[in-house]
Amino acid sequence: MNEFKTESKKLLDLMINSIYTNKEIFLRELISNASDAIDKLHFRSLTDDSVDISKEDLQIRLSFDREARTITVSDNGIGMTEEDLHNNLGTIAHSDSQAFKSENAEQQGEDVDIIGQFGVGFYSSFMVASHVRVVSKAFGSDQAFAWDSDGVEGYTVEPAERESCGTDVILTLKPSQDEEDYEDFLTEYRLKELVKRYSNYVRYPVTMEVTHSRQLEIPEDADEDYVPEYENYTEVETLNSMVPIWKRKKSEVTEEEYNQFYQSDFHDHEDPLRTISFHAEGSLNYDALLFIPSKAPFDLYTRDFKKGLALYSSNVMIQERCEDLLPDYFNFVRGVVDSQDLHLNISRETLQQNAQLRAIARRVEKKVKTELQNMLETDRETYEAFFDEFGEILKFGVYSSFGEARGVLEDLLLFYSAKEQKLVTLKEYVKAKPEEQEKIYFVPGSSRDLLEKLPVVNSVLNRGFDVLLCTARVDEFALGMLNSYDDVEIQNIQSSDFDLSSEEQKKDAEAVAEDNKDLFETVKETLGDKVVKVVVSTRLTTEADTPACVTADGPMSFGMERMMSERDTEGRYKVGRILELNIKSPVFEAMKTAMDLGQKDKVGEYAKILYDQALLIEGLPIEDPVAFAQAVAKLMV
Ligand code: ADP
Repeated sequence: MNEFKTESKKLLDLMINSIYTNKEIFLRELISNASDAIDKLHFRSLTDDSVDISKEDLQIRLSFDREARTITVSDNGIGMTEEDLHNNLGTIAHSDSQAFKSENAEQQGEDVDIIGQFGVGFYSSFMVASHVRVVSKAFGSDQAFAWDSDGVEGYTVEPAERESCGTDVILTLKPSQDEEDYEDFLTEYRLKELVKRYSNYVRYPVTMEVTHSRQLEIPEDADEDYVPEYENYTEVETLNSMVPIWKRKKSEVTEEEYNQFYQSDFHDHEDPLRTISFHAEGSLNYDALLFIPSKAPFDLYTRDFKKGLALYSSNVMIQERCEDLLPDYFNFVRGVVDSQDLHLNISRETLQQNAQLRAIARRVEKKVKTELQNMLETDRETYEAFFDEFGEILKFGVYSSFGEARGVLEDLLLFYSAKEQKLVTLKEYVKAKPEEQEKIYFVPGSSRDLLEKLPVVNSVLNRGFDVLLCTARVDEFALGMLNSYDDVEIQNIQSSDFDLSSEEQKKDAEAVAEDNKDLFETVKETLGDKVVKVVVSTRLTTEADTPACVTADGPMSFGMERMMSERDTEGRYKVGRILELNIKSPVFEAMKTAMDLGQKDKVGEYAKILYDQALLIEGLPIEDPVAFAQAVAKLMV
């Protein structure tokens, strides 16, 4: 008896005790393995003359035995050697299952998702079987071997008999108990249905001996009372349609079929949001079938996520995820590209250089962009749902491509409008803005609620201008990279160069600053290095506005500072703060009076409080909350 490796044991345990409702997927997994094994043999025959097979003979045979409670999946593929049986079926080697090792998986109750999201291959047999026997003969070998296991502890491998190369996987189903009815799988009807549902597009025939009934010929001497008689006969039937769905005409495929294909091939529980199918003819012929998923896979935002489309050449898969076919900002798109013009024996490296691939990639990008644009224009609700899932990726694309992808992406972005109280595109923003408004305004921050209350936001809104409330971290970076849209400059209203005041107001401000030089100097002296400078505010301009605010000095914003400081605790990315005083505020008047009375200390106290208040309003931390509280309390008595 050979013991399973630890990870395998865990997975097996999960399978055996699975409460997963879709146990039926075991058949899909076995058929896919069989198909892969045939692919491998077929693939070899293309480059190796010693392989003497004819494509017509390649098939997957399905059979069952009600009495013995067995289901058998047989293929005449590449087969496995004794060593392969140990390596492939004794360990989890395949990458998909790596994720199973993640901590999540170890928590109870998580098994449902793992199984649903990955498909767990061969081991899924143990969801329905109490014993699994694999008899296999590798291509080019004289000896077959049998792998046997009850799942739990381990397995045995012993010499066995099999005529030609290929593999039989024989499942002995668990006894039915309580609600678990395995009996069901031992029927023609159910097996047929499962093959249709999950394995319809498998490239090789999945055949099964099925029983039909036919009416016997009516005897010549039959009288009027003759009751027709029937007899049963068996015949081998091909259960799957095989023609790859992407090769079929769009008009001949139902949405349901596309959805089924998507779900089974890309392991999603949900239907895709959109399906894009196109066929290209000309110097390069290919078929493409693309899907925009409804939901982001759980690992989309992790480094482990691999983008790419499946690449086929004449029905044979060359690469499962060909990265070169998708730009990073459309990494969520799934699908297939199939071209008979790509050469099979082309290696991965040369593929990457391949101009043909680049041509396909450009077309794919265009198609996806058009589809999304369409959705945005004709089905806003769906688009917003899409954007909720994938919007950050599009925004990140603008940033990470250094603006190069703006042409593709800028019209697809949505931001929250403070004026409209809904998501808008930059195009809509520009179209709606009053003529005298010169720029596109946005403000970054952690929550919409907080941003809406910012004095600077209100002062912009009060002028009848709109502000985009940017709560996604990436917003600021994306907008910063865009810099303008349709020749209208994009402006962060929190940065120090933001100024809505008129020439007249500017002059007034200068005069006030000049008249109150001492006051401004006192405030700056009190705050010392904490602020770069203290100025008359150009954004707080009415009595109703708050008495002070802080703005960022230089190109970096507070939002960026916040993000950087998460990685850098030494405060290297601290943005300079500018304290702006609202000269129309009664507080400013009070400070002036104090100054006139020679009460410099009082002005200093006010300065500290105003500064801390301004920080709090921006959602920035204050240095000494206790001192702040004490200073405020002092004012109260
Ligand atoms: P996956 O198919 O995702 O790699 P499985 O657990 O289903 O993982 O199978 C593990 C390995 O066992 C496969 O990668 C393949 O090498 C081998 N295998 C499984 N079934 C067959 C088969 N019918 N014929 C040949 N090899 C097989």
